[in-house]
Amino acid sequence: MNRETKDVVVLGGGISGLTVAWELKKAGVDVCLLEKSGTVGGCTRSEKRNGFLLEKGPFNVIVRDPNFETLLSDVANNTNVVSASKDAKLRYIYRNNRLHTVPTNPVAMLTTKMLSPSARLRMLRGLFLSKRSGASEDTIEQVASRRIGPEATDTIVSAAISGIFSGDIAKLSLPACFPSVAAIDADARSLIGYGLKRAFAKKNKKHTPRWRGMVSLNAGLGALTHQLGEKLGGDCIRNATVQSLRHDETGFTILYGCSGEKHALRARRVVLAVPVQEATRLLEPLLPRAAQQLSPIKSASLAVLNLAYNRSDVGHELRGFGFLVPRNEPTFPLMGVLFSNSIFPHYAPPDQHLLRVFIGGARDPGAVDLSDGQLIDRAQAGLRDILSISGKPTLTDIVRYAPAIPQYHLGHRERIAEFRKELSKLPGLFAAGNYLDGVSLNDCVRVGTRCADDVKRNLQDDIAIPNRATNLPCAVG
Ligand SMILES: Cc1cc2nc3c(=O)[nH]c(=O)nc-3n(C[C@H](O)[C@H](O)[C@H](O)COP(=O)(O)OP(=O)(O)OC[C@H]3O[C@@H](n4cnc5c(N)ncnc54)[C@H](O)[C@@H]3O)c2cc1C
Repeated sequence: MNRETKDVVVLGGGISGLTVAWELKKAGVDVCLLEKSGTVGGCTRSEKRNGFLLEKGPFNVIVRDPNFETLLSDVANNTNVVSASKDAKLRYIYRNNRLHTVPTNPVAMLTTKMLSPSARLRMLRGLFLSKRSGASEDTIEQVASRRIGPEATDTIVSAAISGIFSGDIAKLSLPACFPSVAAIDADARSLIGYGLKRAFAKKNKKHTPRWRGMVSLNAGLGALTHQLGEKLGGDCIRNATVQSLRHDETGFTILYGCSGEKHALRARRVVLAVPVQEATRLLEPLLPRAAQQLSPIKSASLAVLNLAYNRSDVGHELRGFGFLVPRNEPTFPLMGVLFSNSIFPHYAPPDQHLLRVFIGGARDPGAVDLSDGQLIDRAQAGLRDILSISGKPTLTDIVRYAPAIPQYHLGHRERIAEFRKELSKLPGLFAAGNYLDGVSLNDCVRVGTRCADDVKRNLQDDIAIPNRATNLPCAVG
């Protein structure tokens, strides 16, 4: 057993843990990260294979958060950040056996065939004028139905949300999932009026983001986490599975397994950056009331398939981002499909198309248990007619996430506030991760950066106290 004491140990090397560790290392803190897998990144991983670039988890990011911009600048230069093609703005929804363009302006809303004529009028009327919420917390479904009507909610909103949370809009809390949208809902009677005001305010804004729109990296988003792991160098221990966490008056002991051996690491501070289920398990013996807050948080499961086809075998032009499937199409076997090389052309060789197929989510939780063959058959069945595909895939890749994305159901914000209160009862213990305050990469980096700032403040407090004590006699003298 090797026993070493670090100032900070971060548990988990997904984007959340890597952000915390990198921000601390930049500030000169003695930090070490333990990651269960042989590669860092968690679900943020990419693979190059036979001329394809396969994204295993996240596919793209819109750089909204200044912390994400900083992180990206730390690891990338302008040449390896790539912007999505203009066509990627075109998105589709599957409805009644065909793909419909998502309407983005009032004329398109009035003419879209994916909604009945009365639903189109209801949606448009709601965008101009609708009731504000009187409740402190609504589900996404409640707000959307009140604003744009039930049919547009079933069709457009349910599809859009499955693309982000893979979740059920009847359970997801609007303020927890989309706090800025909840703020608009509480504030504005007219969404169109709000949109116009915002567009005008944007024009007068001084800050120009370094990267606009949807981006990725030349080598895929996995390059971001890979490079962060490289920057941590020897302070990042891979194949290290944390088994338990103990606390005594001088700090923490982390017990972990690595290459069949048991190890112990001493730390003055610990950051939990593992998925919510693992954080719950590790906290159980240490802070049972904190664990109790986390244990009801459910995660949706998901299978992600990368399927390549000869271009000559695909009848559809595949121009656009891809399509999503709404909840009022329960028999369609897929949750959504991205046209990978239409978005980022270098993801496939010129004679191939690469599709990214999502199966499962909250509507179909058992799908991740299907065998590889069953998942491929299901994908083929969903794609064949709608994209006019005649041949078999030339490449297949399957990743199962069980659990995949934490679901922010009603009460989530209060639960997390209570969790943070309980966590603060054990000074030196911190948390980061996608179950706290947003699931996107932007959110994970924002939460991770804030967590690193808290750790830095805690370190300064520790240094300040002994200094004050030793300085006191001099000051008096
Ligand atoms: C399929 C999919 C597609 C997505 N698409 C997008 C997208 O396009 N854009 C976007 O912004 N977001 C997207 N997201 C969301 C986003 O990618 C995730 O929310 C985010 O990557 C989560 O990062 P994390 O570090 O919090 O968790 P994770 O990535 O889950 O990392 C946790 C890490 O902890 C490690 N770990 C677990 N247990 C232990 C242990 N006992 N000891 C040591 N280590 C342990 C794991 O191995 C893992 O590396 C997507 C998510 C999924 C699943």
